[in-house]
This record gives sequence, C-alpha cells and structure tokens, in this order.
Amino acid sequence: MSKKISIEFEYEFYDSLKGLSKTDQELIIASRKAAKKAYSPYSNFHVGSAVLLDNKKVITGNNQENVAFSDGTCAERTALFYARAQYPNSAIEKIAISAYSNNFKLSKPISPCGSCRQVLAEYEHIQSFPIEILLASNYDEVYKIKGATQLLPLLFYEKNLQENN
Ligand SMILES: [Zn+2]
Repeated sequence: MSKKISIEFEYEFYDSLKGLSKTDQELIIASRKAAKKAYSPYSNFHVGSAVLLDNKKVITGNNQENVAFSDGTCAERTALFYARAQYPNSAIEKIAISAYSNNFKLSKPISPCGSCRQVLAEYEHIQSFPIEILLASNYDEVYKIKGATQLLPLLFYEKNLQENN
C-alpha cells in the first residue's frame, strides 16, 4: 500500500511592525541591533537574533564567521546556546531573526538554516510548548510562525534513536 501524505504549513504575514505586539516589535528591534554587531567579514551578510525567555530576559546573538568557514556559527544558535547555557531552567517563548547586507537588498524576511531549525525543534520538544518565530529583515515585512517544528517536518527526534526490541 502507498498513499500521499501532505503536511500543511502556515504563518502570519505582517506588512509592517505596527500590527505586532509591543513585545514582538521590541524583540525584532533587538535582533536588528544584534545584526549590527555580527562578525561577518567574509559574507557581509549580517544576521541578528533575539530570544525571549519565560523569565523575560532577552538574549541576543549574531553570526560569527571564521576564515575556516565551517567554524562559524549562525546568529540563532549563538543566542539559543547562550540562553540555554545561562538559564537552563527557563523556557524559550520566542525568537526574532533579522538580517541585512551591504551587498544586496534583502526585501523578504530570512529564515533559519536547517541546523538552527533542528536546535529550535529540540528545545521546543524538551520544554513542551512552542517557540514562536518572528522572521524579519531590515525592512518592515514580518512572518510569524507558531512553532519551530512547523519549520521542520519529519524532524529528527531522540525518540528515533530508541532500539528495536
Ligand atoms: Zn543557522
């Protein structure tokens, strides 16, 4: 037997920050500020992220590149790992991601790479409630996604590692 199975993906679209809550607006602005501090001399692609924890702390991160390219880290994981390292008992409520480049115009919001999606999905899984994701750019359009697993269908869970009996 075979059958086709489809998975739906939905997100909210905002054409300006004005439609968002004050909390969401502030988180996006924090991610934009973080992007300005990125160490990205090789790509000139500056990414910032801002994580809101349930203790109301905001942790920001940005991309950190290296001349040995694979040694760099994305903005999202910089913030997520720091947040988790400093506040292991705090849940992650939201993450905002912004970017800009001096080389080209980023007219649409950017989205996390596969590795960052995997990290988001695992933290979401262990805290048992969704991490809201706000995708932005340096312009006003914003995509709001209800949870990290929405971005990673059929994700790799530790449950997949259980041995067969
Ligand atoms: Zn990434």
